[in-house]
Amino acid sequence: FIVIGIESSCDETSCAVIKNGREVLSNIISSQVDIHKKFGGVVPEVASRKHVEVISNVVKEALEEAKISLSDIDLVAATYGPGLVGALLVGLSYAKGLALSLNKPFVGVNHIEGHIAANYIAHKDLEPPYLCLVVSGGHTHLVLVKDYTEFEVLGRTRDDAAGEAYDKVARALGLGYPGGPLIDRIAKEGNEYAVDFPKAYLEDGSFDFSFSGLKSAVLNYLNKMNMTGKEIKREDVAASFQRAVVEILVEKTVKAAQKYNMNKICLAGGVAANSKLKLEMSNECEKRGIKFYYPPVSLCTDNAAMIAAAGYYNYKSGIVSNLGLNAYPSLKIGQRL
Ligand code: ATP
Ligand code: MG
Ligand code: FE
Repeated sequence: FIVIGIESSCDETSCAVIKNGREVLSNIISSQVDIHKKFGGVVPEVASRKHVEVISNVVKEALEEAKISLSDIDLVAATYGPGLVGALLVGLSYAKGLALSLNKPFVGVNHIEGHIAANYIAHKDLEPPYLCLVVSGGHTHLVLVKDYTEFEVLGRTRDDAAGEAYDKVARALGLGYPGGPLIDRIAKEGNEYAVDFPKAYLEDGSFDFSFSGLKSAVLNYLNKMNMTGKEIKREDVAASFQRAVVEILVEKTVKAAQKYNMNKICLAGGVAANSKLKLEMSNECEKRGIKFYYPPVSLCTDNAAMIAAAGYYNYKSGIVSNLGLNAYPSLKIGQRL
């Protein structure tokens, strides 16, 4: 069963071909990161235009690399939210047109459910139920994955997403964009106990997150050091910030696993590429006999293979979309339109 997936929710144009839900035949990603770099973040209008420019070639390349022709396709899947509306519309419209012309079923995919599904590609034996920590550029969710298409959100960020905090702190440190991988790298040379940044645990028993206080504390610390003419060791600040983020993420995830009797934990989203997060989560899971899964770095950030995988499981559980489906920028996890 061949699924073609298309992703264009933010600044990556991607097309993938996968077989039987979990086997990647191709996964072409055209990133706009170099274009948006000089602005320090994604410029929506520029992103949409760039998607239009490259999408046909990205799809063509995906078909070529997979060594299939259009007639081999059984299902077309595309992201329809959440994301930037103009960006989403490009991939979604292309996919609907493709499904119409091939007379094949079409299914709209939730981008965040796609991030979660990256784990099915990486781990052929992984099956729900499990607990998934979704940490991406725009979302931080603790999700009970009850079945392939059934989700319960146990907690979410009340302000900044984890990836957003990484990007903003990296910017303040003058590291560039996107900041997550850069902080990850320089933190390895820093002392993570150099600065004791505050961690927000919120009310007792809450599985929500808050990262804006931590972000402000880092910015205030940098300002204070600058004003008093003291030397800033960027490696130490990066490592100390990262320790605070990772400690909260790991502690809440493990607590939720215990409360809901989950013996499997997965990571998903761009921040799942973080080496410190993987290390600490792995240690805590091992102590408690919890199995721990995460996708390879290439499947953590935006790609269409994860969208195709989620599309496959939607279809298998009877979910298809009609060609009138619109883009939905604030689509919630588990929401069906
Ligand atoms: P969303 O998925 O919420 O719509 P997005 O698609 O823009 O947002 P992703 O592509 O999932 O986000 O992830 C990008 C984010 O991951 C960025 O914030 C980036 O800094 C962060 N990131 C990537 N690699 C790492 C890393 N090694 N450590 C920490 N953060 C990382
Ligand atoms: Mg991106
Ligand atoms: Fe994403």
